[in-house]
Amino acid sequence: MIAIIGGGICGLGIGWRLAQAGENVTVYDRGAAGMGATWAAAGMLAPQVEAEHGEEFLLPLALKSRAMWKGFAAELLSTTGIDVDYREEGTMVVGLDRDDAEYLENRLSYFQSLGLDVHWLTGYQARKREPHLARAVGSAIYSTLDHQVDNRLVAEALKTAFLGAGGILKENIEIIGVVTAGGKVSAIETAEDTILTDMVILAAGAWSRNLAGIPDSSRPLVRPLKGQMIAVQMEPENPLIESVIWGPGNGIVPSIYLAPKSNGRLVIGATVEEMGFDTELTAGGIMELLRLAWDVLPGIYDLPLVESWAGLRPASRDDAPILGPSKTKGLVLATGHHRNGILLAPLTAKAVCNYVRRGEVGESIKPFLLDRFEKAATSDV
Ligand SMILES: Cc1cc2nc3c(=O)[nH]c(=O)nc-3n(C[C@H](O)[C@H](O)[C@H](O)COP(=O)(O)OP(=O)(O)OC[C@H]3O[C@@H](n4cnc5c(N)ncnc54)[C@H](O)[C@@H]3O)c2cc1C
Repeated sequence: MIAIIGGGICGLGIGWRLAQAGENVTVYDRGAAGMGATWAAAGMLAPQVEAEHGEEFLLPLALKSRAMWKGFAAELLSTTGIDVDYREEGTMVVGLDRDDAEYLENRLSYFQSLGLDVHWLTGYQARKREPHLARAVGSAIYSTLDHQVDNRLVAEALKTAFLGAGGILKENIEIIGVVTAGGKVSAIETAEDTILTDMVILAAGAWSRNLAGIPDSSRPLVRPLKGQMIAVQMEPENPLIESVIWGPGNGIVPSIYLAPKSNGRLVIGATVEEMGFDTELTAGGIMELLRLAWDVLPGIYDLPLVESWAGLRPASRDDAPILGPSKTKGLVLATGHHRNGILLAPLTAKAVCNYVRRGEVGESIKPFLLDRFEKAATSDV
């Protein structure tokens, strides 16, 4: 039996691929599956506009996974009947003043130096595309290839697909530890039981470093990074925007983004806060989100505020995922996806499944093994 700890998008996606291949696989979640960061996310699949200096090694993985998304969404629809609202209208990053325009010009030339397919728009051109943008919008970068999905529908579809393929899902069961002997996994433990298994996939999101029994050399150093979000409700047949819009940030909201879903829900995020496992909403966080979103899209003022929540991104030391084998035989890692776990889900599922079934570490995941941190520490000395 293969045991997967964590029923988020990573655990369910890997579980689905393994169950499809005929493996005997059980996913354990300490709550309801899909209710961790996977539920909290905005569903953006945006490797282009989110490309950052110092993270260039992540870009090929992100672009590859984005290219898999259309087929992944179609396969989920044909397998489960659940449409995950894959939308291809693209993403626009807008600027409001002269400073923003200079910053965006810089970003544009950086994106172009990476060979990304992005375009410059004047404020007039941006408003032609999205007429409800603020009059102050004076510049924009438009990325046609940065898409989005409804991540909550993805979780529902993956759960259905996993069960339909013969996977076993055990919800409300917390795995408290992994038992190892002689450098190999032999079991996992709940408060009441010891479950024998020689193959464990650790996909517990922001909680992945907390399990007892994992040798230090195999423990993924993942920490929680809090994100507060809100949603307002648009008329589905008369939405304020069709593409995802990013705008200037401030303080705890490094950039504001607005992601419109086909049911009219407009997801607005997000704060980035080092607050441990705290998921309390704060007046300041919500105020910043509303104010920054209103600067870009004043029409939200009259819309009903339908939800507010906070989630925990699983962040690794270099903000990239930790995938594949660890130093402990039978302990496989699929965690640390930080702000990209929805985007990286199709590739994570495929690559980790391939490793578990055939022992192959695919080329695309080689830079994302746990031992890269050890190598970095040695080369620092
Ligand atoms: C505010 C916010 C916005 C985001 N927006 C985006 C976005 O637009 N695009 C994008 O690509 N990514 C986004 N992300 C990141 C993305 O949500 C995560 O990277 C991704 O969901 C991680 O998936 P996961 O399966 O690893 O973790 P999770 O979804 O957190 O799942 C982990 C699961 O493990 C379970 N678990 C934990 N410990 C145990 C245990 N001991 N025993 C059993 N079960 C356990 C939890 O209950 C949970 O269900 C966002 C994240 C946040 C917080």
